[in-house]
Amino acid sequence: MSRSSSVRLALPRRQVCIHGHFYQPPRENPWTGLIERQESAGNFHDWNERIAAECYVPNTEARVVGPDEEVLKRVNNYSWISFNFGPTLMMWLEKSNPKAYEKIIAADQESFLRLNGHGNAIAQAFVHLILPLADPRDQKTVIHWGISDFKRRFGRAPEALWLPETACDDQVLKLLIDFKMKYAILAPSQAERVRLLAPAGPWKDVSEGSIDPKRPYRWFDPSSERRRFIDLFFYDGPISAAVSFEKLMSDSKVCADRIIQAFGDLKKDGLVSIATDGELYGHHHKFAEMGLAYLVDKELPSRKIEVVNYGYFLSRRQTEWEVEIKAGPQGLGTSWSCSHGVGRWFLDCGCGSEGKSQKWRTPLRQALNVLKSRLDGLTDKAGEGLFKDVWAAREDYGEIIGEDVPQLPASFTRRHLLKNSPSELEKARQLMEIQKFALYMFTSCGWFFSDIAGLEATQNLKYARRAMEIAREISGEDFELEFLEILAQALGNDLKFPDGKTVYQNLVRQSV
Ligand SMILES: [Zn+2]
Repeated sequence: MSRSSSVRLALPRRQVCIHGHFYQPPRENPWTGLIERQESAGNFHDWNERIAAECYVPNTEARVVGPDEEVLKRVNNYSWISFNFGPTLMMWLEKSNPKAYEKIIAADQESFLRLNGHGNAIAQAFVHLILPLADPRDQKTVIHWGISDFKRRFGRAPEALWLPETACDDQVLKLLIDFKMKYAILAPSQAERVRLLAPAGPWKDVSEGSIDPKRPYRWFDPSSERRRFIDLFFYDGPISAAVSFEKLMSDSKVCADRIIQAFGDLKKDGLVSIATDGELYGHHHKFAEMGLAYLVDKELPSRKIEVVNYGYFLSRRQTEWEVEIKAGPQGLGTSWSCSHGVGRWFLDCGCGSEGKSQKWRTPLRQALNVLKSRLDGLTDKAGEGLFKDVWAAREDYGEIIGEDVPQLPASFTRRHLLKNSPSELEKARQLMEIQKFALYMFTSCGWFFSDIAGLEATQNLKYARRAMEIAREISGEDFELEFLEILAQALGNDLKFPDGKTVYQNLVRQSV
């Protein structure tokens, strides 16, 4: 057989990548660093503990069960799926469940060896905020912090960074290129149009979610003459939705059949990619972690389907298509969990309403935006003459933010400070903490749910209060009055706490 005919006869490889986005918002009381009892978590102390017991831990040793319910083996699912963990959640897990934490790190190392230097873990923006709604300096900081945190934990550079809520626009993709990310994962609904790269074909409209998700796409920075680019994967919408909302993973055989169907008549190596919240494996769907283990260990291999991750797939297949993404309403970008672009995080758009009004969403964001500009102004003023460049220092604060920081380490102060008396060192530390809380207060979960009196919005307001308190300590300036004036316009649904101001006065001030 000639060489050319053997090439022609090689069958396209069928590969699967399952991505889990593992994330909980930070729940620690910003005054004590401790998580308080959360009644709604039932028998558990708080939601972190509950979800760890139902999901994060079981996925490190998921049972593969035989026909007579006997346990055949245990699989560390993280070795087989692409995943990201929220850095603040990892911080918590490292302390509260070091064994599971170590297994997650080990799973990345195992996959790194198996898949030719492409580990399963990818980074996440350090603060889970909606990147297109943040200003460019803050976008850069939370991405930088996320990458620093990843390197420290996983001992290598990440190939990609999970965008909170997959929220993105051109500016965010440009930043990912600046940070040398090789690819990003988006929802199929975020693509606008595609074309063949070489020779350049005609543009094809895919804005109705019709993009073929089985291949990677190249996105070029439109402002760059050098044609800088990043590759994008769009996950398979229908299968991912079936895993999320129809419990598809509770029957691995049915799931594998759906995947086979999705490959269709494959002409080249193809990837079926499924991306969902990681918590559905065991927390939202009981025993789904076992379905996942059976799928990757038995059903897919028996159908000669390889389980890989995006980085590995990309290293073995050329990117032959180009894509442009949607600008979204008002040019503010798009996301995976709001059909109104990123409206869910600042508008009464209807998403996640549970029949309630979300008129509170806009004033909540306005109040926090105004407060942020005050805190940034203070940081500029107080940082002048104290730091060489206070914003460059904030970038590097990401290297120590995961630790308890009673005082700034010498390596940091040598690099960034102009003065070093004890009171100046303390003031510098306080300024960095103001900035940390000023970013935490934009955690997207604060807008995601139906009411401003909920745990998540209240948590954001606690961060705001803590930032204001430190600001008052070091400058005497008080931003609370102005903040509460705007917050009073955030009309909620709870008769006891009808607006943002009442929530703040009763649920936030009381918590100290
Ligand atoms: Zn929406």
